[in-house]
Amino acid sequence: MSKHVEPRRRRVKVLATIGPASGTRERMLALIDAGADAFRVNMSHGTQAEHAARIRELRLAEADSGRSIAILADLQGPKLRVGRFADGGCLLEAGQDFQLDMDPTPGDARRVQLPHRELFEALAPGARLLVDDGRIVLRVRTVASRLLHCTVEVPGRISDMKGVNVPDVVVPLPALTAKDRSDLAFALDQGVDWIGLSFVQRPEDVAEARALIRGRAALMAKIEKPAALERLQEILESADAVMVARGDLGVELPPEQVPAAQKRIVAAAREAGRPVVVATQMLESMIEAPTPTRAEVSDVATAIYDGADAVMLSAESAVGRHPMAAVAMMDAIAREVESDPSYYSRVHFTELGNRVSTASAISLAAAQISRSIGAAAIVCVTIGGTTALRAARERAAVPILCLTPRPSTARRMALVWGVHAMGTRDVRDFEEMVAKSRRMALRSRLAKGGDALVLIAGVPFSTPGTTNVVHVVRLTGDELKGF
Ligand code: ATP
Ligand code: MG
Ligand code: MG
Repeated sequence: MSKHVEPRRRRVKVLATIGPASGTRERMLALIDAGADAFRVNMSHGTQAEHAARIRELRLAEADSGRSIAILADLQGPKLRVGRFADGGCLLEAGQDFQLDMDPTPGDARRVQLPHRELFEALAPGARLLVDDGRIVLRVRTVASRLLHCTVEVPGRISDMKGVNVPDVVVPLPALTAKDRSDLAFALDQGVDWIGLSFVQRPEDVAEARALIRGRAALMAKIEKPAALERLQEILESADAVMVARGDLGVELPPEQVPAAQKRIVAAAREAGRPVVVATQMLESMIEAPTPTRAEVSDVATAIYDGADAVMLSAESAVGRHPMAAVAMMDAIAREVESDPSYYSRVHFTELGNRVSTASAISLAAAQISRSIGAAAIVCVTIGGTTALRAARERAAVPILCLTPRPSTARRMALVWGVHAMGTRDVRDFEEMVAKSRRMALRSRLAKGGDALVLIAGVPFSTPGTTNVVHVVRLTGDELKGF
């Protein structure tokens, strides 16, 4: 990545789901230009061959853009879904009968497949099935063997592979299905940067996935089950990041409990030093409309004021009519919120407690110094990204320039608040780091002659985990001479 591009003029990152509306190199480059920092491939929809083609296009778009772009492969997890329809979907009317069965024949307005045997045993008359994040509600009238007769209570359009939640019964869920294991191997083969783990309930679920991933990607635990909220702390410790997956969370919990859960998850993730993504229905009306509702704009802004690292688009960018406008809208909201003088104090509302390790105390000091002296950036050189994560955790008032010899680290950082990552060759000693920081800060245009930089480093240099130096330098503007 030799091309150098302007850093984003915002700290929060934008994650866009790719799909049929956004799968080509040109489209993805346009999305990156509009502000997308990272892309989500939802393994629930489409085939591995389709995903492989999109990932290939995406890496070409990444090279065109000159930025480091993260790819998140989101595993479906043990999600219950209906089968397919002859016409892709159909309209269900209030009060009508609708049947769910095990027959793979494409569905119609009378029936569709529900390919989960265990459900037919678990559900009793009176139970509710919530379809498509709760948009459609079916109530079970009678249960025959492998046949559910339901009444449509809340009508709507049902379509291929829509999700089903059954909040009235407990269905035992494995952490990874056979499909997830196959998709995981595929995604790692494709060199994705993040793996999203759906329906995490226990820290053991994360450990199981981590053992399969073996460091080849970072792991994001999706918080969408009440059980995960109960063990949030342990899940945060075992995962590299979390997602507030509000689609399923708002079905598993009464929706009015989601805002408080979101605030709690974001604050706990920040405290634990783990990036956190807020997802689902953020600009939902933009699937059809070229502009969002005021309530949606306010929702995106709230997630940013809460201190999220990234905000996400789902169907808006995967199948919507205005993917570019949706990304541009998120970019605009983020820049506006971050320029509000109250933003800084609001994100610092979360108190981080004592920084007991030297490394975290150094990060806090760097953040404080950079603010006091009005530095242009905090700079760190990092192999795995931990130093940049610690600096991001402090939600410093200035951008964090992350210099790394590893392209995979630069890509992972595309989901982290405030971090602008650039590739660099290995740095051998402190003097070289200082010289390199000066040059790269100017080249990135994060800084200009006369600006101060706050460097975080560890001395002696070659030993990892020795962060122990905060060093302030002032640029002369001559740093680029001879390069
Ligand atoms: P999850 O629970 O993992 O979020 P989801 O079904 O809600 O799964 P999203 O990625 O949130 O999926 O996207 C919302 C909708 O957009 C999906 O229900 C689906 O109709 C459509 N969609 C998303 N990605 C694709 C794709 N790759 N191909 C076809 N349709 C897609
Ligand atoms: Mg969703
Ligand atoms: Mg989900």
